[in-house]
Amino acid sequence: MDERTIPVLYLVVPCYNEEEIIEKSAQVMSDKLRRMIQEERILEGSKVMFVNDGSKDKTLRLLHEIAAKDSIFSVVSLAGNYGHQSAILAGMMMARKYADVVVTIDADLQQDIEALDKFLASYMAGSEVVYGVRNDRHSDGVFKKGTATAYYKLMHLLGSKVITNHADYRLMSKKALNALAEYKETNLFLRGLIPTMGFASDVVYFDVKEREAGHSKYTLSKMMTLAMDGITSMSVRPLRMIAVLGILVCLFSVIMCIISFVDWLQGNNVPGYTTSLIVSLIMGGVTLFSLGIIGEYIGKIYMETKKRPRYIIDTFVWKEDVTQKGEDDV
Ligand code: UDP
Ligand code: MG
Repeated sequence: MDERTIPVLYLVVPCYNEEEIIEKSAQVMSDKLRRMIQEERILEGSKVMFVNDGSKDKTLRLLHEIAAKDSIFSVVSLAGNYGHQSAILAGMMMARKYADVVVTIDADLQQDIEALDKFLASYMAGSEVVYGVRNDRHSDGVFKKGTATAYYKLMHLLGSKVITNHADYRLMSKKALNALAEYKETNLFLRGLIPTMGFASDVVYFDVKEREAGHSKYTLSKMMTLAMDGITSMSVRPLRMIAVLGILVCLFSVIMCIISFVDWLQGNNVPGYTTSLIVSLIMGGVTLFSLGIIGEYIGKIYMETKKRPRYIIDTFVWKEDVTQKGEDDV
C-alpha cells in the first residue's frame, strides 16, 4: 500500500440537459469541497469537473458562467452526446492529470454528497477503488426496482462481477485511473469493468434521494443499451448457452427420429400435423433468437475493430486556483 497523504480530489459530474438543477448542484458540490478543504481533509486545488455530454439546453452556457465566476469549477465539453459512461470516462481521464483521487457523481444530487467523507476515509485507509452502494431503492418506481434487481441477478448468473446496486458513484485513485486508461474498449461498461481490474477496494453505503429538479435523462432505450452492453461486453456466456441449447435440440431430434422410425415400422404413422408445426415453430424461434445473440456480438466486434475515439472533447475550461487566502492578502 502506498503511503497516503492528503489528496487533491476532483468530483467528476456528467451533465446531459441538466439546466434545471446544475446551478444548485454546483453550489452544493463546491460547498462540500470547500468544507473538506477547510477541515484539511483534501488539498486546496480540489475541483468540481463538469462534463457536458452534448446537452441541447442551456446547460453548457450555465456551466461556463459558473466556471467563469469561481475557479473551483472546471468544464469539459464533449462534441456531442456520447452517453453517461463515455462522459464519465472523459472526465476521469482529464481529471487524473490533476487529481490524486477522483469521485464520479451524478449531476442531479440524488446521490448523497455527504458520503464523500466515507469515500475519503476508505481511500486514506488504503483503498484504490471505493464503490458507492445505495441503501435502498424507495425513490425508484416499481418497474425500475424490479428490472434492476432482475438485471443484477442475471449479470451475476452470467459471471459478471458487477456490484449490486452500485451505480457510477465511485472513488478511484490516480493509480486505478492510470490502469483504467489502459483499457481501450469501445463498448464501455464501467461497473463491470472496474471490479475486474483488481486493486484494494471497498464499499460505502449512501442514501438515494428523489431527483430535485428535471427528470431522468436515462430514457428506456438508453437503459436497454446499457443493460445489453453490460452483458455482452462482460461475458461470452450467452454464446456458450447457444451451443448448449444446440446440443440439447440435437439430442431431442435424435430421440424424435427414433420414435418416428419405430412408429413407421409398426405401421401406425399417425398424421402428425400439430407435432410438425410445433417443432418447426420452436426451431424457427430458437434459431432466430440465437442468430440475434450472435449478431449482437458481431456488432460489438465490428465497433471494436473500428477503434473510434470513445469521445471527442470540444472545449475545456480549467483555471489555476486563486486561493481564498491569496485574495485576503491583497
Ligand atoms: N447523463 C449523461 N449522458 C446521457 C444521459 C445521462 O451524461 O446521455 C448524466 C445525467 O446528466 C446525470 C447522470 O448521467 O448526471 C445520471 O442520469 P439520470 O440522473 O438521468 O439517471 P437516473 O438517476 O434516472 O438513473
Ligand atoms: Mg439520477
